[in-house]
Amino acid sequence: MKISELFGNLTFNEKVMREKLSFEVFRRFKATIEQGEPITRNVAECIAHALKEWALENNATHYTHWFQPLTGLTAEKHDAFLQFHDGGTPIERFYATELMQGEPDASSFPSGGTRTTFEARGYTAWDPKSPCFIIEGEMTNTLCIPSVFFSYNGDSLDKKSALIRSTMVLDEAAKELLGVMGYPIPQHVHVTAGAEQEYYLINREMYRQREDLMLTGRTLVGAPPIRGQKLSDHYFGSIPPDVKAFMEEVELELYRLGVPCKTRHNEVAPSQYEIAPVFEEVNIAADHNQLMMMMLKQKAAERGFALLLHEKPFQGLNGSGKHNNWSMSDETGTNYFSPGRNREEFLRFLCFLVAFVNAIHLHGVFIRASVASASNDHRLGGHEAPPSIVSVFVGSALEQVLTDLKNGNFTELTGMEMIKAGLKYVPQIEKDNTDRNRTSPVAFTGNKFEFRAVGSGQPLGFPNTVLNTAVAESMRSLARMIRSEISAGRGQEESTLAALSAMLEQCDRVVFNGNCYSREWKEEAKKRGLSNLRATPEALRSAFGSESEAAFLLEAGVLNQTELGARYEIKVEEYAQRVEIESRTLLKLIRKDIRPALVQQMKDLDYLDWGIRTHYREAVGQLERDSARLVGELEGLREVEGSEKQAQFCYGSILPLMEKIRDSVDFLEEETDRQLWRLPDYDQLLGHR
Ligand code: ADP
Ligand code: MG
Repeated sequence: MKISELFGNLTFNEKVMREKLSFEVFRRFKATIEQGEPITRNVAECIAHALKEWALENNATHYTHWFQPLTGLTAEKHDAFLQFHDGGTPIERFYATELMQGEPDASSFPSGGTRTTFEARGYTAWDPKSPCFIIEGEMTNTLCIPSVFFSYNGDSLDKKSALIRSTMVLDEAAKELLGVMGYPIPQHVHVTAGAEQEYYLINREMYRQREDLMLTGRTLVGAPPIRGQKLSDHYFGSIPPDVKAFMEEVELELYRLGVPCKTRHNEVAPSQYEIAPVFEEVNIAADHNQLMMMMLKQKAAERGFALLLHEKPFQGLNGSGKHNNWSMSDETGTNYFSPGRNREEFLRFLCFLVAFVNAIHLHGVFIRASVASASNDHRLGGHEAPPSIVSVFVGSALEQVLTDLKNGNFTELTGMEMIKAGLKYVPQIEKDNTDRNRTSPVAFTGNKFEFRAVGSGQPLGFPNTVLNTAVAESMRSLARMIRSEISAGRGQEESTLAALSAMLEQCDRVVFNGNCYSREWKEEAKKRGLSNLRATPEALRSAFGSESEAAFLLEAGVLNQTELGARYEIKVEEYAQRVEIESRTLLKLIRKDIRPALVQQMKDLDYLDWGIRTHYREAVGQLERDSARLVGELEGLREVEGSEKQAQFCYGSILPLMEKIRDSVDFLEEETDRQLWRLPDYDQLLGHR
């Protein structure tokens, strides 16, 4: 079997389109995705017909617009191709209008007030850049049409439309910068993204016995495992055969859907793994990441596993992220974060690099907010994950170049260094210009930036929307600064260098190459005036709630005031709801599983006259009092008005109490008879083998 032969077999890709469409229609379609030419009715009719024929050949009976509402999942509503002729004869039909626009009337999605009930209709529209694909069912298949989702007024109701807007803004800005620097202007500058996807894979039976995992995605209680990740024997270890078989199947299915999987390996914690694709244009990468998460979940369930995409399913073990590798390139394949081969290219690289650093400096708050969620809060700032202070790592060689540049000296990186491994038969390896720094939330890794704060369960849409818009704004500023130097009579290169120096003067305090986990960095960051937004309610308020922080998104036209307000509202509300669900689940576990075990255990302990009896009873008493308090707090929550205040209440009152309860439960778990304790423990869940 050759992967190259089955790759994309379930997609309506260019190869199929070339075969199924007339040359003229295909040409017009290409002009649409490359030059943004509007699709005429005629062309749409031809594509719809060809698409239907292809779908029927592939056993599809239904089609759906497939979109990404603001919930973070994907949504679909299936319609059959089946229609009836005048005489009642059945026939499969698919009209251009059905391809181009859907009206799922999906009025129950959260819209953060964007839609009132009298204008509740939401519309989906085909995104021709992302290929249509087929999802296989047990008996028949479904044609999925990647789409954007918006309201009657044209407000964006999904994660994709704003992302697409931001790529257009970035395209313009990058070309403006290239123009001012005197470089040839390409047709398009696009963002490339490759998301390394981390996940936990555990035994499904165990999972089903943990209602906390099923309802909230994480373990709300659980004493530390005996072994955990202490021996570091899992990371990059050989993949267990049943897991490997799972990965192979996931990858094969994804290949057929045109998702370019590249890497698989064990991650740091036991039962933790990673899958990474080859990078693609961000719009497509965002869709493909959704397909990847969907396929991982589906195949895991089929093979007796449960897949966890929560950012911190197990306390004390590594969390899961989705390292978002990000770069810019054009249709010729030039990567603008590649240092280049000569002075000219290196200078161009520096312009893009400095614009990026400046964007992180100016919009660290919004970038932090773009990945804020109840679940990611447990990961960010933990000692194995990027901290909530947003800084940039560039490596020591580049930092020197930037410092020189700020002081008005242009130095080039001196040739690649070779690593001397001292092994005769091993080819020499080029030393990466960036030594690795795993502690930084945003790191330059040779020819791309890696934004590591994105959570494993989060869609790529919003974080990249924010990043694209921020970088676009910065590129514009740099272009303006260069232009004004030129109009003051300076030469091209001199102007560029002067502008870079001035921009670095403003932004280089966001560069930090040291250990971001250290306490010293927290203090240093404070001195540098960088914010440290630990929790979601605060991060969201600082970003969305501040006119000056949000202005760049409005000015770029990526989000309007309504759309911005809606996203804020939805995120805050979701935070409060998640914490509420967690606390209710915790109470349920206590009543249904934990308390019955404690009662039994106490009876047995009565026969003993040891100290443990007293400790045990005290812990049970404490747990009962705290649980009663939690019940009270939940009643209190219902009286808090407004989701912003509710979120704050959850953070300030409910979460700390849940932590306290957990401490008692975890102590009691360790002291209780295995036969009585109904919840599988951490060692069982992590299934060492
Ligand atoms: P590492 O994190 O170890 O450097 P890789 O070099 O394999 O790992 O890259 C990780 C991810 O970065 C992959 O998904 C890869 O496709 C992506 N990537 C590589 N180059 C680029 C680029 N120019 N733009 C966006 N993503 C990229
Ligand atoms: Mg990486």
